Amino acid sequence: MKGEDINGRRFFFNISLILLLFLIAIYFFIPLGGDKYDNSPINYNFSLNSSEDSTLQFYPNMRFSTNQISYRIYQCPLQKENQMKEAFNILEDKTVLEFYPFEYDEDILITCSDEIQIENGLFLAGEGGPTNITVAGTFNVISKGKILLIEESRCEEPSVALHELLHVLGFDHSPNPNNIMYEINYCDQEISNDILDYLNKIYSIPSNPDLTFEGISVIPRGRYLEINVTIRNNGLKDSKLSNLIIFADGNKIKEVEILPLDIGYGRKTSFLAWAPQISIKEVEFVIDNDFPEIDKLNNKVLLNLKK
Ligand SMILES: [Zn+2]
Repeated sequence: MKGEDINGRRFFFNISLILLLFLIAIYFFIPLGGDKYDNSPINYNFSLNSSEDSTLQFYPNMRFSTNQISYRIYQCPLQKENQMKEAFNILEDKTVLEFYPFEYDEDILITCSDEIQIENGLFLAGEGGPTNITVAGTFNVISKGKILLIEESRCEEPSVALHELLHVLGFDHSPNPNNIMYEINYCDQEISNDILDYLNKIYSIPSNPDLTFEGISVIPRGRYLEINVTIRNNGLKDSKLSNLIIFADGNKIKEVEILPLDIGYGRKTSFLAWAPQISIKEVEFVIDNDFPEIDKLNNKVLLNLKK
């Protein structure tokens, strides 16, 4: 009887030990509920817009992705074609912009019409504007524009073509009758310096991608961290393959791929990261890649988990 009793106790002890090990295993390896730590969306974006020139354009910080812009002049009479080319030359001389003819998927399409069009009691000399804009952070990236030349410019300067080209580049009308962007065309109108300065300033930013963190949340689940990260390309060029590296108190705990992102596009990634430490104070997120970005400083975010 005694022997059986001891065996019975040993059996019970063994069961308890297995159960304890099992519970430890659950705690270490199986995600459990926990507190949620959230950070508010991060905004590290380039700030370009100063108050004095914020009214020049239809939207703030409008530009093409590069300063080399392609165009196609489609079925225009020679004189209008020459006026358009002259307008390109004038802007090339005064700014960092470069325009080149291209026959396929061009950035700016120029067409012509002889039909008289009247708008608000005025003869319409031309029409122009961006036709495709993508919001990428603080930029409004123009990818396509159109110009319709109706009236031949009778001025020495190709004022109609210049006016419509500046519309395509994002510039709105000016209330100043001496400005080329005044609604009504007169021959002595000039491209104001604020327009030229704005173009040179906004196109001085390199045409690079800019991967930025848009939102991060970390939820501890046992020895795992449940991580949700949204990364957006707020730059001027599509990004290539990158890596997201996660550090817990300085130790690398996870590396995941960030697939290429088009201009303005973002992607949310959710995953579990196993953390060897018991109590984690801070988690660092780093976007790692080998291509240039507009801003590399926004590729790092440190999240404090201690309340
Ligand atoms: Zn206009």
